[in-house]
Amino acid sequence: MPKIKYYAIEKQIYAKYNKLVVSNTDAKKICRKLARHFKFQIKAIKFKGKRGINYSYAYTESRRLRLVNEPSILTIAHESAHLFCSQKWYEKRKSHHKRLLKAVGKFLKYMESKNFWNIAKVIL
Ligand SMILES: [Zn+2]
Repeated sequence: MPKIKYYAIEKQIYAKYNKLVVSNTDAKKICRKLARHFKFQIKAIKFKGKRGINYSYAYTESRRLRLVNEPSILTIAHESAHLFCSQKWYEKRKSHHKRLLKAVGKFLKYMESKNFWNIAKVIL
């Protein structure tokens, strides 16, 4: 599905997770927890840019993430899910399909079941 359409759907379904943000240090912690639990690899995480202005990015080939500073829980789930999908299904191209949406949902559910390890804070 086209990226724009995917984002719209994701944002609509998971709106509340867009308002939950964490510090960079905590974002790293959460990514590591997701990787351990869902058995995929994240080799490195960098932070650059501003939430709501810049994009975050998943480099599926090198298994690295570049997240905006103080990212939302949804961003963490989305970019981590790209690495998860590419490693689980050996995807050649990073894409925005139902499988990704499902993985994002699974990641969010898991994080919520852990109450986000009590580190996420709500923004307006
Ligand atoms: Zn994406």
